[in-house]
Amino acid sequence: MFPFRYERGRDVADVVAAAARDRSAEFLAGGTDMLQLLKDDVCRPGRIIDVTRLPDLDRIEYGGQGLRFGALVKMSDAADHPEVRLNYPVIAEALLASASPQIRNMATIGGNLLQRTRCVYFRDHGTACNKREPGSGCAALHGENRLHAVLGGSDHCIATHASDLAVALVALDAVVVTARAGGGRRIPLEEFHLLPGDTPERETVLEPAELIVAVEVPPLAFASRSHYLKVRDRASFEFALVSAAVAADIEDGVIRAVRIALGGVGTKPWRAREAERVLTGQPANPASFERAAAQALAGARPAERNGFKIPLAQRILVRALSHLKA
Ligand SMILES: Cc1cc2nc3c(=O)[nH]c(=O)nc-3n(C[C@H](O)[C@H](O)[C@H](O)COP(=O)(O)OP(=O)(O)OC[C@H]3O[C@@H](n4cnc5c(N)ncnc54)[C@H](O)[C@@H]3O)c2cc1C
Repeated sequence: MFPFRYERGRDVADVVAAAARDRSAEFLAGGTDMLQLLKDDVCRPGRIIDVTRLPDLDRIEYGGQGLRFGALVKMSDAADHPEVRLNYPVIAEALLASASPQIRNMATIGGNLLQRTRCVYFRDHGTACNKREPGSGCAALHGENRLHAVLGGSDHCIATHASDLAVALVALDAVVVTARAGGGRRIPLEEFHLLPGDTPERETVLEPAELIVAVEVPPLAFASRSHYLKVRDRASFEFALVSAAVAADIEDGVIRAVRIALGGVGTKPWRAREAERVLTGQPANPASFERAAAQALAGARPAERNGFKIPLAQRILVRALSHLKA
């Protein structure tokens, strides 16, 4: 273990200012990922700023402006919220398919979007990982890559993004609201996570000392007809092999509008806009769903051991869309 300072902030302005004064600072929310990274010596902050007691960031609001989660809302509270379950089932389902009840009781919405990849090489200090140690190489490229990404990878990194919630939120055009010393920002979630390219250590557009204060989901009437389907190696307490978040406006058997995002296959939560385009205006039937699924994975580049994810993701997407039709 290594020495670090631990402190609690009084309010948002206080923690953002404290973090801006110390480049080695990291925020701590539920701690379900952060503590593991500290113990594994993957993350070595000089200062840990506990944000869990900040006022007013634990609220869920729903109304004409859509849905707003404070960054400190617990995953379990979001999943149980009646308006979330009724109006955005894809969010509740993605949350309930995540981790375990104990972890969901601790973990927060903000922390979930910023959890680090589960790539074993990233979390193992004894191996090469460009994300953990830029320039050291990527052991996954020719190693144990069964769980790795088939979309959005580069010659430097093929680690998948692990969050289920982010997949549902990116399908719904969610926006991340931040606070920072020079003033906060509103960042569309689709632009929030970065592709690895040749800088896999940079995972989001967040600047140092920038705090997520909320995540907003715009109103979308047909989000009440939405679904999250996840396939994993065991039935609970496991990350996605592949997953699909879908929502559709279907009238007289025709798809008027549709939202599709994939998890477990991308280096970031993967919005499948081309597949949405292929499906819009088409009859809601298996043939249309299969065409959209083929389009969604058209750019996939498998590594040695994860080629199975391509047909699996296509089948899961067809099944998720078929669920909406029923
Ligand atoms: C055994 C296990 C199984 C899991 N299974 C799944 C799963 O199936 N699906 C899934 O999606 N997740 C899964 N998870 C991951 C879990 O959901 C995350 O660990 C959790 O959501 C992180 O939230 P937290 O509040 O604990 O974040 P922390 O661990 O406190 O923080 C995580 C990161 O976010 C930063 N951070 C936190 N809050 C903010 C903020 N407001 N602004 C800026 N930075 C912030 C921290 O600095 C840190 O870098 C699993 C975890 C475990 C341990």
